[in-house]
Amino acid sequence: MSSKVYEKLVPYMEKAEALKTALTLFSWDQETQAPPQAAPYTSRMVGVLSSEYFSAAAGEEVRAVLEECRKDEGLSELESAIVKEMSDNAAKLACIPPEEYREFAELAASSTGIWAQAKKNNDFNAFAPTLRKILDYQKRFASYQAGEGQKLYDVMLDSYEKGFDMESLDRFFGTLRENLVPFLKKLTESGVTVDDGFLTGDFPEEAQERIARFFAEYIGFDFGKGVLAVSAHPFTDNLHNHDVRITTAYNDHVDDSIFSVIHESGHALYEFGIPDELTQTPVGAGTSMGMHESQSRFMENIAGRNPAFWEPVYGKLQETFPDSLGDVPLEKFARAVNKVQPGLIRTQADELTYSLHVMIRYEIEKMLVEEDLEVEKLPEVWADKYEEYLGIRPQNAAEGVLQDIHWSQGSFGYFPSYALGSAFAAQLFHCMKERMDFESVLRSGDLTPIREFLRENVHRFGKLKTSRQILKDTTGEDFNPDYYVRYLIDKYSRLYGIEAG
Ligand code: ZN
Repeated sequence: MSSKVYEKLVPYMEKAEALKTALTLFSWDQETQAPPQAAPYTSRMVGVLSSEYFSAAAGEEVRAVLEECRKDEGLSELESAIVKEMSDNAAKLACIPPEEYREFAELAASSTGIWAQAKKNNDFNAFAPTLRKILDYQKRFASYQAGEGQKLYDVMLDSYEKGFDMESLDRFFGTLRENLVPFLKKLTESGVTVDDGFLTGDFPEEAQERIARFFAEYIGFDFGKGVLAVSAHPFTDNLHNHDVRITTAYNDHVDDSIFSVIHESGHALYEFGIPDELTQTPVGAGTSMGMHESQSRFMENIAGRNPAFWEPVYGKLQETFPDSLGDVPLEKFARAVNKVQPGLIRTQADELTYSLHVMIRYEIEKMLVEEDLEVEKLPEVWADKYEEYLGIRPQNAAEGVLQDIHWSQGSFGYFPSYALGSAFAAQLFHCMKERMDFESVLRSGDLTPIREFLRENVHRFGKLKTSRQILKDTTGEDFNPDYYVRYLIDKYSRLYGIEAG
């Protein structure tokens, strides 16, 4: 039985959810189907919907109702969680003066285009003044949201991953730096070579799409409640637990779209796994960026790049591409998809070096926000860090500091969640292996036990638990990055036949 006060909140919640759903659908459409000339016209309507969302979610009326709800002691556990989620969200939105919010939205609408053009022309100076402005807005917004004595970068980090701040991330990335940087050096100096040339070639798009759909279903993607489309960069969007949308891109590297579909299907399983009681409420989605990435990276890397994963399905892949893969034995294929190659581009990084790319961004964001590093110095700082950690130096800004879209959108504090996701996944994996013979499950061709473990321990809680709580309740331990480091070093020592020590 709901309380009377809570009943007053429901229409606001429903309106905010409806508008959020519409905005998600517009943004999905923009990335997949919308015609080229639509954007400026559609974005006006999106602007109207956004301000409606702002008032439903954070306007004075709803804040007054939320205030009443917080005083009501008769709320159910779910109602309390919804009230808390909405209150936190409203507080965050409402503390920013609407005028500044609008100015930033206008800046953000053009900044991505300016960034894209600068990247295309390989001209950092063309983007630097815009980046400076975006950073200043983000710092100001963080200062409005900051609690007593809270550091600005901690505010930004917390908005993507609750319960993580510079103190915990310094420890996390410190562990990675101490262990992975020397290990990578040892690995690249080992002289072991991996042949992956056969993964590049002429792979007809129609066949790639067929195999993409096959792997999506194999992971557990339900086409009765989901869609697979094509976009420039793969992503997942969800409207609710019965409408989850993933995308991929097809190119001449056959493994790119296969692993991106496995990755996005991992995200999708999380959203399919949200219970009906929670979906279409503010707590009815994955709990954080990091936990979401843990689910996709678990499927992509821990399951999908394990040789045992391929035993039941490699024949299917060979049948699909007989000319390119017909003569390639499974073992050779499995080695190729685990090839380590320090590179300059984060999105193309292998599993071992990926988090080092993220670490570099974390260190730089900290310098920008907390140490007032001048934006103009970014290209050099960036290049120095790549040289130090990955042993290679970008020759220009396009393959260096301009490669990611995030800062042009104002997303400072977002990057660490990518690396945290991999680390969460490794900690969950350690626990999963104690409860099942993981590789036997992969070999069986039926991933149900793996899906069930993730649904039972992660998916079904939506936002009712934070990522830290999920880890603690599942593994009996707080977040511990040692599992991730050990997983990587074990795996790649074995693959490359080098000593782990
Ligand atoms: Zn992802």
